[in-house]
Formats: sequence, C-alpha cells, structure tokens
Amino acid sequence: MTNPLPPLAFDQHHLWHPYTNVTKPGPTFVVKEAQGVYLTLDDGTEVIDAMSSWWCMMHGHRHPHITQAMHDQLDRLPHVMFGGLTHDPAIDLGLKLLEITPNSLSRIFYCDSGSVSVEVAMKMAVQYQHAMGQAGRSEFATIRSGYHGDTWKAMSVCDPDTGMHHLFQGALSVQHFVSRPPVTLAQDWPEDPEANGLAELERCLTNGCDKIAALILEPVVQGTGGMYFYHPEYLNQARQICDDLGILLIFDEIATGFGRTGQLFATDFCAVEPDIICLGKGLTGGHISFACTMTNDRVATGIGGGNPGIFMHGPTYMANPLACVAAKAALDVLTGQDWRSRVAEIATQMEQELAPARDLPNVADVRVLGAIGVIEMRHQVSADAAHARVKEMGVFLRPFGKNIYTMPPFVTSPDELSRICVGMLRLAREL
Ligand SMILES: *Cc1c(COP(=O)(O)O)cnc(C)c1O
Repeated sequence: MTNPLPPLAFDQHHLWHPYTNVTKPGPTFVVKEAQGVYLTLDDGTEVIDAMSSWWCMMHGHRHPHITQAMHDQLDRLPHVMFGGLTHDPAIDLGLKLLEITPNSLSRIFYCDSGSVSVEVAMKMAVQYQHAMGQAGRSEFATIRSGYHGDTWKAMSVCDPDTGMHHLFQGALSVQHFVSRPPVTLAQDWPEDPEANGLAELERCLTNGCDKIAALILEPVVQGTGGMYFYHPEYLNQARQICDDLGILLIFDEIATGFGRTGQLFATDFCAVEPDIICLGKGLTGGHISFACTMTNDRVATGIGGGNPGIFMHGPTYMANPLACVAAKAALDVLTGQDWRSRVAEIATQMEQELAPARDLPNVADVRVLGAIGVIEMRHQVSADAAHARVKEMGVFLRPFGKNIYTMPPFVTSPDELSRICVGMLRLAREL
C-alpha cells in the first residue's frame, strides 16, 4: 500500500501512542536516529533524551558494545523456542544476573516486558501458596501510589485512583490497599507503628491473610505513581510481618534496578531480600524489550513440589537470544564502569542545579535520588505543553501528573545535564 499521507499525518490518523486520545493526538516528533543521549528529529534538530526513553536507555542510545553483541547474535541465532532448547546467551546472562542480584534469588524466568514479569511474579506467588496447601490465597496486598504495569493483574495493584480503577470496575481483581509508606527516605524513622505506617500494614495483612498470596510493591522508589522516595525500614519490617503470616514479598524493581537509585538495586537499601523480584526497563540498556522475574529456592522448589509442579507460563519469545545478549552486554557496560561515582556525580549536580526551583511559587517539592531528579508542582502538568518547548530547549522531557522529572542516561555529560536542569526549571516556571 502506498502511503497517501505525509508520514506524521499517517501516524496521527492510524497509530495509537501510549496513553493518548487517538482522535486528538498531541504534538509528536519524528525521530530519525539516535546516538548517545541525543535524538535526531526529522528536521535535523538534536534534542537530549532526558527520559532515557522511559527510563531504560541507561547507557545512551546505540551503545557500541550492546549493538555489536546484537549484530553478532543476529547473524547466528536471532531466535529459537525455549521449550526443550537452550542457548549460551540465556546461560551467560543468567550467570551475570546471579552475580549482581540479591543473593537468595537463584531462579530466573525470562520474559518479554515489565508487565509480563509482574504477571509471572503474581502467578508464582499463587502457585506457591497452592502448593503449600493454601489454595484460598489468590489475592494481593500493596501500597497506594504504586505502578506495576498495564496488563490486567498488574493493573489491579496499581494505585486505585491514578491507575483508573473506576474505569475498569467489575473487570479488575479487587486487592488489598494500604496507604503509601508515610515516612520519606529523608526523614528519621519513628518507632511508633501508627506513625511509620506498619500498624496499618499489619492490620491489613492480618485481616486478609487467609486470602493474600503476596505483598507486592516498588521498593524505596515509587515511579509512575508519583516519584516518591520512602524509608527502607518500612520494607525491613514488612518482611517480618509477611514471614509471620506466610505471605510472600514481591519487589518490583523494573524502574529502580541497575544503579538508577545510586544502589545497584533498591533492595540494597534494605537489610532484607524479597522472595520474588521483577526486573525490566534498563535490563537491555533500552535496546530491546526484555524482562525477568527471579525468585528464591524456597518458592521455586515449593512450586516444583506442588501439583502439577510445572509453572504455568511460557511466552513464545521466552529468553529471546537477541534480548539476552543485549542484556548481558548492558550489564557488562554497567558493572565495567564506576557507575556508583557516576550516579553520585549526577545526583550532586542535579541537587545544585534544581535547587532554585524551590523558590518558585507553584513548586511543592524538589527531590533527587541517584540519577532521578524531580520537581513536583502543586498542579497537574501538561505533557503537550512541555513538548511544545522541546525544540527550543533542545531537551525532550515528558512530565507526568504533577511531576517534571528526569532520569538521564548515565553517559550524560555535566554540560548536557545542565541543559536538562535548565529545561526543567523553565517548565516549572512556565507550565
Ligand atoms: C514500567 C514499569 C512496569 C511495566 O513495564 P512494561 O515494560 O512497560 O510493561 C512495571 N513496574 C514498574 C515499577 C515500572 O516502572
């Protein structure tokens, strides 16, 4: 079919974009190519990708080590089914993951995207409880303001207000919600369980415990649900409550993994480890969709010892070799550099350069953790209005809710980071 419309007009008439009105799409840019932190638009304008392409392009676009690994794999074995077959890319990546993730997590399930890894984690929890003779435990507890993906089960544990539960009422599983952890990462931890949120969590889990399979949450950093940083002691004590009640603990580290928070995993802020962890986004350095769910021996052997014993999930593209080599290469790039110092430098610079936003009348808060910089406004901010300024600023930012934020690629230079901060301050003044 020849295209009767100019490319952008075709896009606007026929292609859905994420969270958009298909009949009234907002300003959209055509990207021709990308290199490092830069996107080249169709008119030749270069803009900095301050979002790391939705937080996954951690080492910059087209990182030579990652693309080389993918080229080599493409010429050998782009894909093969994983049922009854295996390959070096899956095994080499597994070795690397075991080396860097929390020690107790020894069993790896590869899948296609973050949301799917959350589905897999939730199914693991239900199958584990079933195997333990607790077939009634098929529901989940979570904290408000969370985000876990857009598929049905993942959506059921997203924040019930911003996750638009009302739209899907009757179609979504009903889950158990408690307030988001009230103590921020910057505050001192109060021992009073009514003040630190744990009394509410304990009541919820105790009341529902014969129905609850697992507690699922994003550790320390809630991403899409509000860019909120909370105290890791909440997780240490939640682990104890879960253990006492036979409830599993799932950490969704899809946004927080691979150094983004200044720790390799947000779990590393804690004294405890989860039973199941979800990884995605930065796993391949943003080069191809991929994710995984990891669990400990207790859960894996529990499921294996149950009836039917097999774990009931197996996507067509499970352990896709191209994705596996991209992930292995991305993890080598990460651990082959002093990422901890790099992220600390990014944090220090963002703290200094975003600080002036505190004096603006419509700014509620400014916070930085690792390579995450947030200006929280008192009102909702329009992504379209931000996009209208992209070419002038030379920086691509896509605010969400009340937050103007950046998750810059780790390869962003001090100069480029300054341009991002200037762009964020401008949006905070003008939007
Ligand atoms: C992005 C995200 C997901 C969903 O991942 P997709 O790859 O978009 O399906 C799940 N959980 C968290 C914390 C995320 O940030």
